[in-house]
Amino acid sequence: MRRIFLNKNDIHNGNLILVNKSYPFIKREAEMIDALTAIGLISGEIILEKRTATMLIQLMNVLDCTKTIVPVSGYRTSKEQEKIYNDSLRENGEKFTKKYVALPHRSEHQTGMAVDLAQRSEKIDFICPNFPYTGICQKFRQKSIKYGFIERYPKGKENVTGIAHEPWHFRYVGYPHSEIIQNNNLTLEEYIEFIKGYQYSKKHLFLNHGHQYNEVFYLDVFKSKEVEVILPEDVPYQISGNNVDGFIFTLWREKV
Ligand SMILES: [Zn+2]
Repeated sequence: MRRIFLNKNDIHNGNLILVNKSYPFIKREAEMIDALTAIGLISGEIILEKRTATMLIQLMNVLDCTKTIVPVSGYRTSKEQEKIYNDSLRENGEKFTKKYVALPHRSEHQTGMAVDLAQRSEKIDFICPNFPYTGICQKFRQKSIKYGFIERYPKGKENVTGIAHEPWHFRYVGYPHSEIIQNNNLTLEEYIEFIKGYQYSKKHLFLNHGHQYNEVFYLDVFKSKEVEVILPEDVPYQISGNNVDGFIFTLWREKV
């Protein structure tokens, strides 16, 4: 058995952090430097969180779409986000801006785990890029689930996300979470609540993949500053904060 101690301050780290109007991204930019990498595609360079970058490149290579899909925006500093917000206010007005552009510290782009994609064309709209539900873009959308990505602001969920439908904005949350989110027609906001139905001390969520399976559960740190968790020996695992009130655990297990 492995004993793991988790500190409340760590809920702001990991691939499942929720960043929106209610839950700001609080990491300082200096803390982000080691977590980021530049990806050089023929469309130019954008910066992403390292694992997000690796998965995006693998996915684009598998789909052979590096010439047809263009990543137009990745990591942004709070200053850059502020500039985009103010520029949009000036050019597009308040109504449009509030619908499509997040305030500084409320944008997922500051995590480096969000990417905006465009279908290649002569003229690309950088705030609302064209990324249709057909052809290679739709193939990307479907395949991206297995690589840990979700379409973050779906149609019909505007009231939950607080952001208008954005077919071009993808967020890395990691597999199998992307698949659970997709299969249950959830947003990240809803998933953070959904997973609380699978507490550490109660029933866990199991996902079968042949002779392997994932075990997922949630632990809150609401009441204490530090919590102790006991995990099985020799089982690969990942722990992510939710940026709200606790941690989500993912175990990769073998059937015996
Ligand atoms: Zn975006």
